[in-house]
Amino acid sequence: MKFRALKQIIPATPVAEGAGVTVHRTIGTPALRHLDPFLMLDHFGSDTPDEYIAGFPDHPHRGFITLTYMINGHMLHQDSMGNKGNLQSGGVQWMKAASGVIHSEMPQQSAGLMRGFQLWINLPAQQKMSAPEYQEFSPGAIPVIDTPGLQVKIISGNYEGHAGPVNDPNSHVQYLDVTLGKDQTFTHTLSAPFQGFVYVFEGQALLDDSILPQHTVALLGDGDAVRVNASDNGARFILVAGKPFNEPIIQHGPFVMNTREEIEHAFTDYRNGTLVRDKARISRT
Ligand code: FE
Repeated sequence: MKFRALKQIIPATPVAEGAGVTVHRTIGTPALRHLDPFLMLDHFGSDTPDEYIAGFPDHPHRGFITLTYMINGHMLHQDSMGNKGNLQSGGVQWMKAASGVIHSEMPQQSAGLMRGFQLWINLPAQQKMSAPEYQEFSPGAIPVIDTPGLQVKIISGNYEGHAGPVNDPNSHVQYLDVTLGKDQTFTHTLSAPFQGFVYVFEGQALLDDSILPQHTVALLGDGDAVRVNASDNGARFILVAGKPFNEPIIQHGPFVMNTREEIEHAFTDYRNGTLVRDKARISRT
């Protein structure tokens, strides 16, 4: 078995998003435009309400999926077709924007910690103009595997014979939230063609004897498995991987398509009020 080496470390760039929310972006910056099939990774984490209270008022998306993992906090999601969803601590929302969604994501708290991740996952060309879909999961729907010194929450994919609830049939995204105790080791099978990363957000971890600083995305090299060690304070990180599509990616803000013409079409549709064309399918657990 070949463990994946550390390929590259990309530090986060603070970016003002929405109505003035500070997010820490790694994938989707000049240092790393994409990590096929992933288009963007934003980490939000603040106990200062000024940094999140303004939220993300109405904005469009077309051509991809947003996967939001709320670790701490409470956000209300509302879209242009009247769909509503509550995202609470430990909950997950998978939104296939596909042909078009206009939505808002607004904090439902005026104090305390808000912390989580939003990942943008690409769609293959033939799915980009399909109807939108939602999968929403309450914290209780996320399996938690607890062993001494190691806790794994399975958001998507498989771990030790247990499956996470998110079903992404194109990228087959694997998404684990791993908490390691002092000096513990986590290993997980991850074979080709999966591409992925580790993002440490508590404590300190090592991959391949290299320290993974917090708030950086650590890209994984080729291999069949991932091995991460915690240092003396333990560590908490997400491990995310997906199957690349190897298709052209043309991104302009909230629209991600395969050609410039399709991007121009998205802007025209948005201006004309025809971006949203299909009713979304929703599943909640
Ligand atoms: Fe959004």
